[in-house]
Amino acid sequence: MPRRISILGATGSIGQNTLDLVRRNVAAYDVVALTGAGNIAQLAADAIEMRAKIAVTARPDLLEDLRDALKGSDVEAAAGADAVVEAASRPADWIMSAIVGAAGLAPGFAALAQGCTLALANKESLVCAGQLLLETAHTHGATILPVDSEHSAIFQALVGEDITAVERIIITASGGAFRDWPLDKLAQATLDQASSHPNWDMGQRITIDSASMFNKAMEVIETREFFGVDPDQIEVLVHPQSMVHALVGFRDGGLMAHVGPPDMRHAIGYALHHPHRAHLPVERLDLAAIGQLDFSTPDGARWPALRLAREVMGAGGLMGAVFNAAKETALDGFIAGQINFTQMAEVVEDTMTQLDRQPGYIDVSMTLDNVHKVDHLAREAAKAAIDKRAG
Ligand code: NAD
Ligand code: MG
Repeated sequence: MPRRISILGATGSIGQNTLDLVRRNVAAYDVVALTGAGNIAQLAADAIEMRAKIAVTARPDLLEDLRDALKGSDVEAAAGADAVVEAASRPADWIMSAIVGAAGLAPGFAALAQGCTLALANKESLVCAGQLLLETAHTHGATILPVDSEHSAIFQALVGEDITAVERIIITASGGAFRDWPLDKLAQATLDQASSHPNWDMGQRITIDSASMFNKAMEVIETREFFGVDPDQIEVLVHPQSMVHALVGFRDGGLMAHVGPPDMRHAIGYALHHPHRAHLPVERLDLAAIGQLDFSTPDGARWPALRLAREVMGAGGLMGAVFNAAKETALDGFIAGQINFTQMAEVVEDTMTQLDRQPGYIDVSMTLDNVHKVDHLAREAAKAAIDKRAG
């Protein structure tokens, strides 16, 4: 019987890579829901091609456009944040969570509540509400499989291992667009420069987050939340080739490294076929031709985001939600030209300090409502921090 699947964030980079794999064996899948936001033409074309039951845009103002684009097909159309959540709760066996940002939280929780296998690319869910996410999966008998290259790598290195035998986990970072830039030039980095990644082809937001290391900072927190290790067991190594994605160090001194080309279809395909390994259309590495793989310690002055991740883990509670909301807002500010590249970290740090001083915000219990509340407060504080700099 075909497997029922849905893709949340189908029109994005992860969503399109997922569809690329599905397309190669289309008879094996029954597509329930595809969701997107602004790119209606892509959403409709994919929904029609995949014979999806429903296509949803997160933008209510685009419902008519979506209806027009779906005319003549059997695909149902819907719009708005609630409709995305409703689509996520439609029965499916496997759901890809690939919406970018905190907007991916509610749909991910709705998917878990139906006990499916959730392929989790939306790292924001783990950063903002990791504990709640894992508890929800447990309560509903759902499975979460990581779809971040590093976390898929760690997951694979841990197959058949005892987590208590793990001494440390090392995730690698390419260093992004500005790895070798002079430090005093970073403040002048333009949007265009920050939006091009040396190795990975990804959405614009995560590409800029790679240049600032906010992506890696998020991934450190993601590692702690998903694998339940202590913050001081997690290390980051700069590795410009992006071929060793992560290494797990065991107490006997052995390191299990996961090596592969920088192609997200590996991590997506692993989650799609788990627990089996299917043939995947990714490049086979020729290590002799590559010749050399480099590693170095990240420079704290260049990438303050890594220090902020440690502070988030030290604070615990809802500080992850503060961090993520401030980071998303600072990124918006950079994209809009209100603040410069290095001011993004300043805005995040200001926001964390400000909300940490207000008792009650960070240590309230972790419910989805509280996460949204704190997310809202942090966005307001981050906007004020941006205005202070822009004004
Ligand atoms: P993207 O920007 O290419 O795509 C984002 C998707 O989310 C699109 O389908 C868009 O329509 C949808 N979307 C945007 N705003 C929305 C909203 N408010 N409500 C509902 N849907 C909305 O992003 P991406 O690079 O594919 O990343 C998706 C997620 O996967 C992110 O959490 C990212 O951190 C994570 N991730 C991406 C990569 C990668 O290689 N691209 C690797 C690891 C993890
Ligand atoms: Mg990653």
